[in-house]
Amino acid sequence: MPDISKELRLRAEATTAQLRAALAAYKSVCYASSLGPESIVLTDLICGEVPQIGIFSIDTGRLFPETHELIEKLQARYGRRLRMYHPDALALESWVDENGVNGFRDSVEQRHGCCGIRKVQPFRRAVAGHGAWVTGIRRGHSASRALAAPVEWDPMYNLYKLSPLLDWSEKDIWDYLKAKDLPYHALHDRGYPSIGCAPCTRATRPGQDPRAGRWWWERTESRECGLHPRREVAIAAPVPENMMV
Ligand code: SF4
Repeated sequence: MPDISKELRLRAEATTAQLRAALAAYKSVCYASSLGPESIVLTDLICGEVPQIGIFSIDTGRLFPETHELIEKLQARYGRRLRMYHPDALALESWVDENGVNGFRDSVEQRHGCCGIRKVQPFRRAVAGHGAWVTGIRRGHSASRALAAPVEWDPMYNLYKLSPLLDWSEKDIWDYLKAKDLPYHALHDRGYPSIGCAPCTRATRPGQDPRAGRWWWERTESRECGLHPRREVAIAAPVPENMMV
């Protein structure tokens, strides 16, 4: 990595070491790409250093066109396909019939229902049979995520959850992307720091919480999609020693 500072190179090596250790400990590891800037860092490290880790993403059916363009760019750059998971068609048709096409705005429960069908259920299928899944969450994302541990037992999906970018700063992430000239989501340059489904994401103002543009009509406490529920974090036991980097 010729254009990367020594500190950032060490961070990247520590993250790679965590990924390798996870593979050794849990055998089958998958990465759930959100296609945010952290995802690009992890995709780059996985494709370059730990290609045995499968990469997938979820196409909820309500993504921005720019998200699909980014998927194409990543696939072209790394010469491998991101496995895309989609909602169950019958369950989705039934939900929309009952709640309306944008019924997720009517209540937190309905929003969770939509996220459940469009995100959580496909995610459950994607991680089934794996020993661990990798996320790109960072402590700086939110107060809830600041409580996360590098390795946790994920009781919702019955496998370990690894967060090898927890201590990266936003600047670290962008320095890495720029130094390696990696593709990233076009909407980041238009004021969208955190990007999900199109109807549930909007641009933020400078200085606002990076996730303020997600489900902005809800209270802050409810703004998670179900993949990273807000909860008290219990560190998993046992945690392999070589994961504590
Ligand atoms: S983010 Fe919005 S559109 Fe996407 S699954 Fe959740 S509620 Fe539905």
